[in-house]
Amino acid sequence: NQPVLQVKGVKTHFFTENGAVPSVDGITFNLFKGEILGIVGESGSGKSVTSLSVMRLIEHPGKIVEGEIRYQDRDLLQLEESEMRRIRGREIGMIFQEPLTALNPVFRIGHQIQESLMNHYKLNKQEAKQRVLELLRRVNIARPESVYEAFPHELSGGMRQRAMIAMAISCNPKILIADEPTTALDVTIQAQILRIMKEIIEKEGSSVILITHDLGVIAEMADRVAVMYAGQIVEQCDVFTLFREPKHPYTKGLLKSTPKLHNLKETLDSIEGSVPNPLFMPSGCRFHPRCPYATESCTKHEPELIEPAPDHQVRCLMYGQEFEQHWQRRGEAD
Ligand code: SF4
Ligand code: MG
Repeated sequence: NQPVLQVKGVKTHFFTENGAVPSVDGITFNLFKGEILGIVGESGSGKSVTSLSVMRLIEHPGKIVEGEIRYQDRDLLQLEESEMRRIRGREIGMIFQEPLTALNPVFRIGHQIQESLMNHYKLNKQEAKQRVLELLRRVNIARPESVYEAFPHELSGGMRQRAMIAMAISCNPKILIADEPTTALDVTIQAQILRIMKEIIEKEGSSVILITHDLGVIAEMADRVAVMYAGQIVEQCDVFTLFREPKHPYTKGLLKSTPKLHNLKETLDSIEGSVPNPLFMPSGCRFHPRCPYATESCTKHEPELIEPAPDHQVRCLMYGQEFEQHWQRRGEAD
């Protein structure tokens, strides 16, 4: 299975008057065809900046300073902005947490979805309208005509999110990036939206990056998971392994203190200490001030992301020592 997207060593820093903030600091992951890759982490861990980096929507004073994002034999970071604009929407669609900020308040829903369709395909108004109504039906909107005519503020949060999903899939993108798609919604509506997303993803065979702080959403939706902490991936594996045999002390802490897996915010408060201020990143392992297993060496050496078990990566020195030899041998073989 070839990856549809390869993110390699991406660093996105924000240049503030107090110094450079490494919001995303060397992220590497693959997205495979037809899979849902969950990215989980608390707010400020860099997950939204990761998704905006993939879309190249980082705004000043932020800048992608390093790395490669390979999509169909091209590095998205090398494309002209005009080429990138063609990729957004058509090749990579995006679903945001708060559709009210993503939708234009002064245009009717139908008009907005139609615009993106007419930009990408040569459709006349009537054809485009038919496509829009079809899309609205696909996200289980029972009365598509009335949503078509509505302004965003006239719809409920759940209806708006459905419209947003319809817009995101309108041009059949190969990749969907959903950033906290259900966070702003109440629990029943969340479940409906997740079900709709799942149906669409399965039917279209889309590849999805799903960003969330909610381990319940991860458990329900994701095939593989990347756990982010302080701008880096600290663990990555398939979803079953993550819940059954987490390796990183941070992931272990998350899971131990989450009987219901639902509110990561509360969970994280129960891991002692708080997320580091990125202007003053702890030396060595960034998690060491909060880690129950930390040793002297953790304050000095920065762990790399290594693979102590097949398809299971972890950024922690405990596994590094055990596998030092393995890595040496691998180095020689390269
Ligand atoms: Fe904890 Fe050390 Fe591993 Fe960091 S490297 S997670 S401080 S044991
Ligand atoms: Mg976010």
